[in-house]
Amino acid sequence: KAKQQGRDTYEVYSPDLDDSLSKRVTLRNDLQEALKTNQLSLHYQPQVDQTGAVCGLEALVRWKHPSKGYVSPADFIPVAEETGQIIQIGKWVTAQACNDARYLAERGLLKGRMAVNLSPMQFHRPNFLNTVQDILEETGLEAGLLELELTEGILMKDTASAIQTLNALANIGIATAIDDFGTGFSSFSYLRDLPVDKIKIDRSFVSQITTSEKNAAVCKGVIGLAREMGLKVVAEGVETGAQAGALSGYGCAAFQGYFFARPMALPELTSWLTEARVGACPL
Ligand code: C2E
Ligand code: MG
Ligand code: MG
Ligand code: MG
Repeated sequence: KAKQQGRDTYEVYSPDLDDSLSKRVTLRNDLQEALKTNQLSLHYQPQVDQTGAVCGLEALVRWKHPSKGYVSPADFIPVAEETGQIIQIGKWVTAQACNDARYLAERGLLKGRMAVNLSPMQFHRPNFLNTVQDILEETGLEAGLLELELTEGILMKDTASAIQTLNALANIGIATAIDDFGTGFSSFSYLRDLPVDKIKIDRSFVSQITTSEKNAAVCKGVIGLAREMGLKVVAEGVETGAQAGALSGYGCAAFQGYFFARPMALPELTSWLTEARVGACPL
């Protein structure tokens, strides 16, 4: 029976494996083309405070493939990390986001900071700080208007050098946030040692906050701890007023999610930001 099962497994698994490998090779080649022919763009999602006022933006990369349509960053970023293309993509994203942030700031429309997602390979490069500083200089964005989002994995990898880099960023005036908090090896003790400014509670906890007491407890605990430690907290993926209300009740002061605003291209974002948001309290 085991033999039978083994053979069945093999027969089913093998073509899948080939398929996924060739898919990745194709994806890599297509990504190279995308970089050459400007198929990448950025969308920006606002973060809002308890009054509904904008308190930050997050840049999210978009890829419009010529034949496949939009490809999710969740699908192509991991491939770009494997191939090393993330370095080139990451530089492009950072420069574009900083440029658009400066554009908004010049018009008085940038409230809070522009946040950019970083991959481990970018953060751990020896010339990472110089790259970021060069981009700030080239785009004319103040360091005080930039925030970098890191994942727990990035910070666990080589914690001592990560702390050095975080301190260097803080000295320049660049803020840092831990993205998807709670999904990694989150130990609270490591938070104590990391000079970061903000944590972003992962959507997976937020989406279950009204239906699962355990998820509610995680949100409550993370918010309370962050506040005790003097860290800012943003809840990610807030889709309903009930979720926002529950988070608010636990002391969460900032939110990001479809309930408040979807990621938008710059023209749409510009008009969205131009409309009065103060006092629009959706909570
Ligand atoms: P992330 O940094 O945690 O970004 C939040 C993701 O949640 C985004 O997905 C956003 O569109 C989505 N989102 C926001 N509000 C809601 C909501 O209310 N409900 C739901 N269901 N989703 C919501 P997106 O844009 O597909 O990006 C996925 C991930 O890809 C990001 O997760 C980030 O890890 C990565 N990524 C995106 N852009 C970049 C980039 O420029 N560089 C790097 N290294 N990674 C990126
Ligand atoms: Mg993020
Ligand atoms: Mg996240
Ligand atoms: Mg993520």
